[in-house]
Amino acid sequence: MAALKPSERMKIPRQPMPEQEPAQRAANFQEVNCGYSAEAASTEACRCLQCKDAKCVGGCPVNIDIPGFVDALADGDLSRAADILFADNVLPGITGRVCPQETQCEAVCVRAKKGTPVGIGYMERFVADWARQHRKDLFEPPTPTGFRVAVVGSGPGGLTCAGELAKRGHAVTVFEALHIPGGVLVYGIPEFRLPKAIVHAEVETLRRRGVEIVTDVVIGQTYTIHELMKGEGYHAVFVANGAGLPVFQGIPGENLKGVYSANEFLTRVNLMGAYRFGETDTPVIKASQIVVVGGGNTAMDSVRTARRLGASPATLVYRRSREEMPARVEEVKHAEEEGVVFRMLCNPLEVLGDDKGWVSGVRCIRMELGDPDASGRRRPVPIPGSEFEIPCQVFIEAIGTKANPLLTQTTPGLQTNKWGNIVVDDNNMTSIPGVFAGGDIVRGGATVILAMGDGKHAAAAIHQYLTTGCSGNGRAKLNAVP
Ligand code: SF4
Ligand code: SF4
Repeated sequence: MAALKPSERMKIPRQPMPEQEPAQRAANFQEVNCGYSAEAASTEACRCLQCKDAKCVGGCPVNIDIPGFVDALADGDLSRAADILFADNVLPGITGRVCPQETQCEAVCVRAKKGTPVGIGYMERFVADWARQHRKDLFEPPTPTGFRVAVVGSGPGGLTCAGELAKRGHAVTVFEALHIPGGVLVYGIPEFRLPKAIVHAEVETLRRRGVEIVTDVVIGQTYTIHELMKGEGYHAVFVANGAGLPVFQGIPGENLKGVYSANEFLTRVNLMGAYRFGETDTPVIKASQIVVVGGGNTAMDSVRTARRLGASPATLVYRRSREEMPARVEEVKHAEEEGVVFRMLCNPLEVLGDDKGWVSGVRCIRMELGDPDASGRRRPVPIPGSEFEIPCQVFIEAIGTKANPLLTQTTPGLQTNKWGNIVVDDNNMTSIPGVFAGGDIVRGGATVILAMGDGKHAAAAIHQYLTTGCSGNGRAKLNAVP
């Protein structure tokens, strides 16, 4: 296989991802994408041109050696492929499923210039799934350094940082506020996109690597950052507690029964298993008509979840056009196939209620696109007199989240910006020496893979800080040495 000429590789068509049929999957919570067969993965690997200057690697926030693991896969050496993949990415089963590869590595794959890029994410998923079943011995235990690092939050940024630090021999404790590790991976992303079993398995792999995970501990309440460093004796801290505070539109009727933030709705269904209420203790309001407002992946997850709970129609309302939607193209396509109704270029003005205080509908206004705004996207402008109503019994707001102030307000000296996000330098170090931060608490809302990129970058800076006494920019000096 590896002896194929580039011209022969160019002739191989991209291998499609097998999926559950739309009508079937709209009624269940099982994973939509079924994964490559060994044959499809190997064929797809042969499409890679093994570029000397592999642009795809620079397009990956955790800099996976993509040609390396793909070459091993093309050779049928899955063990080598797994070693290469896990050396750069501690959560490949997760990223292979939810990373927006079409805007990351695959967007800069040379094959995208003349056709379709190599299916990097799909192959990553295949190798990670193979490794989960066949390789328990992925890591050589490193020599312990004696340094202790606390990681706040067990989402993608925190887990990545923890795994990278553990590889280097540091003792890492991850503090998670919820009762299950995974952060947004378990409370935000639905089972049909990312099965919880995959998250639990990759968390277990980190535990085998020596990472300690402590749940039900809220940093900022149970311990402050200063208590972790002074009282508990951690030499450095990485803060990756996300941005979990929901944002609401501030329109009339938001206090009616049947209005959810996407965070609450998804947490009930995903983390607490409300779609299996009866077997589980947490309910969620099921309704025949549900409206979701928003255009990102969280909005798409919410409306597809509503569809699976039986809503017909499950309607998505977005104030811009489809071209401006930030959601992944694949998720939009899947939602459409599953029967989600898209109402583009309209915006809710008011949630309507009945005389018992329950949601009965949403009053919206049509929009048109005006001149570009600061983000470069065309600004949506209301069309006077175009109001209309959509009947529904549940209304879900998925327009964004912001930083929870609990941790930042209990950490004197921690610099934040006007949105409450933590300010960091090029090494992800905050205004407090030895305290680093990354992911949504810094970026104010990003993707899983960008948070993981921060975690990896910060781990390298923390390692340097611990082993040299300075973080790389010379301003931080480590005081306590084990
Ligand atoms: Fe591509 Fe994402 Fe995998 Fe990196 S982690 S190789 S960007 S799919
Ligand atoms: Fe392979 Fe595309 Fe990367 Fe080149 S850019 S090494 S073809 S995946």
